[in-house]
Amino acid sequence: MTALPTVTSKYELAPRTNDELRAMLPKGSQGGRTIMIDPVSPEFNRGSFCYMGYLLFSAMQDLGCDITILENFCAADVDTIPQVGVDQYLIVLWNHTQIEHVQTLIRFLPRGKCLVFGFYGMIEAQHLPVYQVPASIIQRGMVTYHRNYRFFKQILLSDCDMHLKEFSGQVYPFFTTYGCPRGCNFCPTTLNFPPNSPEGGRIATPLNELFSVLREMLDKDMVGFHFTDEDFYLDMDRTYAVVDWLSKQPEAIEKRMQIITLGERHTVAAFAKRYGWQVLVDAGIKLIEIGLESAEEDLGKDMGKGGIKVCRKIAEECPIHVLWLTMAFYPGETIQSLNKTGAFMKENGLTADELYERVATNGTHGGLGQFCQYYEGFMLDKNGKRISVDNVELEGTVFSRRPLRLMPSFIPYSFQNDVIKGIGRPFEASDDQWFDNYRVDKPVLGQGFMVGKTVKQVVEEQYANPLDGYIAMAVAAKIGVLV
Ligand code: SF4
Repeated sequence: MTALPTVTSKYELAPRTNDELRAMLPKGSQGGRTIMIDPVSPEFNRGSFCYMGYLLFSAMQDLGCDITILENFCAADVDTIPQVGVDQYLIVLWNHTQIEHVQTLIRFLPRGKCLVFGFYGMIEAQHLPVYQVPASIIQRGMVTYHRNYRFFKQILLSDCDMHLKEFSGQVYPFFTTYGCPRGCNFCPTTLNFPPNSPEGGRIATPLNELFSVLREMLDKDMVGFHFTDEDFYLDMDRTYAVVDWLSKQPEAIEKRMQIITLGERHTVAAFAKRYGWQVLVDAGIKLIEIGLESAEEDLGKDMGKGGIKVCRKIAEECPIHVLWLTMAFYPGETIQSLNKTGAFMKENGLTADELYERVATNGTHGGLGQFCQYYEGFMLDKNGKRISVDNVELEGTVFSRRPLRLMPSFIPYSFQNDVIKGIGRPFEASDDQWFDNYRVDKPVLGQGFMVGKTVKQVVEEQYANPLDGYIAMAVAAKIGVLV
């Protein structure tokens, strides 16, 4: 038998006994019955930070708690929730669409038995009774999640799926780490579990535990993984130990193991420089997802992402399929920045067809990338710096603070007031798909009535609904029709 690698990470937490972990749970968990409620929400792609409910549920199951989960729950059905014999209700709150549900549940469920967890800035802003899930509980959830898939409606919550045509089969989400200390300016993950937290904004499962869980999964023929880590590549030596271990499992070859990973551009590049790409190929990694967000240099830096050079290098060298995640409408977005992002995607990204499949898999409309979303307690000032909503001086129009993916909640003035310089090319029939994805009408093109006008003027002239107009204009810029 080969010895297990002994690489450790500074993000591994001190081991805790079951009794110590039980003491970290809300007091109604001790011997009583818990009901977890995740209210319904139209936000489809909630990202990896929203797995906290599943992780908490898994940890509580593992610690012997009596817990039931009600997902996609509509508050109008509050009377169907058991009340007799229930000691506590743990309610999830991630986004604005859930606020009224949460308030209704707290009003009508037995007084003093509800605690809310999820996106803490929002919970605090709503003055709701909070349960801050401790990092050690999350860590226990990370290594027990795979035993609880059967309890969950969705299993895989993020928008990252085996969505490309060449892959098929079930993909199981799996955390080797949780959290990301990079601190990009738009990212809710890093805000909810910040780098200045006692754990440093990240949790890593010790390798011996990780390998025993992966072994358990492989033995059950689970060979499609989505490593849901925000940044799988951050701890390079540890990442190497994981992929090296995977590459030595017979399943990698015999059963065509298929793995998706997420990585931050600099850490992916640094990993490849130190260890090369081949070990990732050998481990069965079929797709690496990297947040490109914008190909415009300055905008990328404002976002906290850094420059584009490293993305180009990855695009040139990486033998594995890279999915570039993009975003529009961050403050500073212009027609030109969208042109640049679109050009990068055309050169290095997916075909429209593949992207559509991805979108269809998730049941959403869209395809050119999510739009920038703002969460309460997380707004930006004119310089793109985070400020409190109580002190907000917005650089644009807030259409809604609801963080619906693929629906812009904010159109920055930089885009609204950008002047159209010309028409890069006429529309082609194949462009229709992009507008269909977003359910918006194509702009009517005409040099005479577009060029020299601001985006806002043209939107006001062409669209009854300005939100539709801005989406359409952004799409047209990204595909190079507007310049
Ligand atoms: S690298 Fe990704 S997960 Fe990390 S802070 Fe930036 S956007 Fe968030």
